[in-house]
Amino acid sequence: MVGPVNNCRACGAPLSVTMADLGLQPPSNAFLASAADAATEKRYPLRARVCGSCMLVQLDYDVAPAELFGNYVYFSSYSDEWLAHAGAYCEMARRRFALDEKSLVVELASNDGYLLKNFLGMGIPVLGIDPSDTVAAAAEKIGVPTLVEFFGERLARRLAAQGRCADLIIGNNVLAHVPALNDFIAGISALLTPSGTVTIEFPHLLTLIEHVAFDTIYHEHYSYFSLYAIEQVFGRHGLTLYDVEELPTHGGSLRIYASHSRRADLEDSAALRALRAKEGAAGLRDLATYSQFARRVGECRTSLRAFFAGAARDGKRVAAYGAAAKGNTLLNFCGVTGTQLHMVADRNPHKQGKLLPGTHIPVVSPEELMRRQPDYVLILPWNLEHEIRRQLAGISAWGGRFVTPVPLVRIVP
Ligand SMILES: [Zn+2]
Repeated sequence: MVGPVNNCRACGAPLSVTMADLGLQPPSNAFLASAADAATEKRYPLRARVCGSCMLVQLDYDVAPAELFGNYVYFSSYSDEWLAHAGAYCEMARRRFALDEKSLVVELASNDGYLLKNFLGMGIPVLGIDPSDTVAAAAEKIGVPTLVEFFGERLARRLAAQGRCADLIIGNNVLAHVPALNDFIAGISALLTPSGTVTIEFPHLLTLIEHVAFDTIYHEHYSYFSLYAIEQVFGRHGLTLYDVEELPTHGGSLRIYASHSRRADLEDSAALRALRAKEGAAGLRDLATYSQFARRVGECRTSLRAFFAGAARDGKRVAAYGAAAKGNTLLNFCGVTGTQLHMVADRNPHKQGKLLPGTHIPVVSPEELMRRQPDYVLILPWNLEHEIRRQLAGISAWGGRFVTPVPLVRIVP
């Protein structure tokens, strides 16, 4: 499973068009403790390509998960916004699917159990599945039974044989992380009761394309889904979409609703028909759209390089803000060096004092950035431009200016 991928991980057809070739990159969250670690730093191809048959966008090189995730543990209950999102979802699901004490709700990648906990409060039985024992232990602690396993067809068949099929299967922000996509979706099909529903949330490829957000392409995300591509792969596993919602999470996500294809009582919702038409109009079923995206990615790099060349010519000092994964992808792709960019400030104390993966630029505190009075502050998480400009408004005191890098460099007036 590790190494080059020449055929579509969903349908097996050859991968034809390159959508973004971001070069050789270290894992975007592999911060270095010191310069000595640079000698052993690993880099892997980071290239998104599209299948000419089912139009699934995917990476064409798989990195071993152990190289990517390391000790990094994320507890979803740390985000208030996510907790509210999960609570509202569960209330909607209980009503819409008439869930009660005889139902079973299964969540894939259930993390610390904070979504499923809502159902427990309603008296609805739940089962979490998550391969991380750390988050699973946290889930068990709040009463959410959790299997510490990778989900796939084998586990699904075992549960089904035990009479533990699910009336509702939930998968939020997990599908992109699954290298063996067919095994995962076959598992959903095997675990779902005949009248059950699966809901899946994932960042929408259309948003990525519209915003030229190539810096959200990571080794950790093997696939990038359009509605069209997900309908193809679900269909081949006997699952049919019947509804979809557009959500604001991650700048633009979809929540799809699917059931067994043999169910005859469900019709395509108006939202589903409308979104199919919207994707068609945006050219997501046309390979030229993906080639065009590759051109825009190249233009972004040209514009960032020109900005740094101009700053060097004029003797301007550039710092950056936000040591997030997307910034690392961008800086490595553009070949930015520590001579061009002296420091990156970040509020996270665990990142301060470390070096960015690949470029080895030091991470400092926001206070240090303010002390050094750079002429330009490059906002790497450019989707948070307004928030960061508010946080660092003090740079106007010495005439400092903000710069956003994507889709093309823009110096904020
Ligand atoms: Zn395909």
